[in-house]
Amino acid sequence: MMNTAKSRPINLYDLSRPALGELLAGWGYSDYYAGVVWSGLYRELAKTIAAIPSLRPDLAERLAAETGIGILPARSVIDSADGHTQKFLLGLADDQAIETVLMYFRGRATACVSTQVGCAMGCIFCATGQMGFRRHLTPGEIVAQVVHVARVLRERGETLRNIVLMGMGEPLHNYDAVIAAMETVMDHRGLAIAPRFITLSTVGVVPGIRRLTEERRPFRLAVSLHGATDEERTRLVPTARRWSLAELIGACRDYTQTLGRRIFFEWALIDGENDGPDQAHALGRLLQGLDAHVNLIPLNPTIGFGGKPTEPVAVKAFQAVLAGYGLPSTVRQRRGIDVAAGCGQLATLNAA
Ligand code: SAH
Ligand code: SF4
Repeated sequence: MMNTAKSRPINLYDLSRPALGELLAGWGYSDYYAGVVWSGLYRELAKTIAAIPSLRPDLAERLAAETGIGILPARSVIDSADGHTQKFLLGLADDQAIETVLMYFRGRATACVSTQVGCAMGCIFCATGQMGFRRHLTPGEIVAQVVHVARVLRERGETLRNIVLMGMGEPLHNYDAVIAAMETVMDHRGLAIAPRFITLSTVGVVPGIRRLTEERRPFRLAVSLHGATDEERTRLVPTARRWSLAELIGACRDYTQTLGRRIFFEWALIDGENDGPDQAHALGRLLQGLDAHVNLIPLNPTIGFGGKPTEPVAVKAFQAVLAGYGLPSTVRQRRGIDVAAGCGQLATLNAA
């Protein structure tokens, strides 16, 4: 095994704005210079240190010697036939790879970002779950995906405003890196992504939801349910054995009450599995009195799971039951299915 950790320079994308200030202060530069570098990274989207505008030559030299900009090279780019989705396979320094997707969602450009290589949660219908857990992403690797999409959009004269943490991995299993990366992309001197346009989607890691509540994190929260009884849910989401639905919904209730914010619940609709009226009624009862919105996603096909998506009539019937409980719901448009960039189809089978 190569030991690259020691020799690898600092990745500037890993640094928060204060940390960048401290690094440069240690070299004798005032905070003004950290501002120049920050704006070069996140306003100009510079790919190299030499491309950062108005940088003092002595500082440029030191940065080039001791740091780097951790851009992730695109190993492949695939466009969906409908032109609404573009999938990037981005290479990491250790030869792993992750997928990042640019989608147009109601006309708005959205980056669907990965937080881990693989996933440890093992949801049986999800391509990422099927590949298992390889490793966490660093803050810089998460930031680099956002910058990548922002750069692609800029070349078309467009701006990135939306982020969904719905790519590969479970964001609350990599909590610190995810929060650090979101702090960077929200910084108003840089990419300035508004927190209400960032959605964190979790399989329901209860301590993570509680921490988001305590720390009053400003993003939107989506919780993937898929089953409204412990028995049904653990069949599809093995990790749900660690936290009962009662514990999960309790944490969600505290979140909505403390932060005064709605929660989105995601439900992959699988034909004959979790799409019957019994599950719809159970879901209606479970979420009663909660400020909730349900996103229904007819199952996207994956190699490792034989289930089929729910037929449109049955989707309508499911929605009608929820409406009877006063629960609003939306059916997620199927996007990018032909390039396997739909929900849960992200996997990098060709990665080491
Ligand atoms: N790990 C997080 C975020 C990534 S998955 C989570 O599970 O929430 C993003 C969304 O895609 C989740 O709601 C997940 O349940 C859903 N999903 C996964 N596989 C799917 C599939 N094959 N079809 C439809 N939705 C799927
Ligand atoms: Fe992981 Fe989310 Fe896939 Fe489940 S659905 S395996 S939590 S990425």
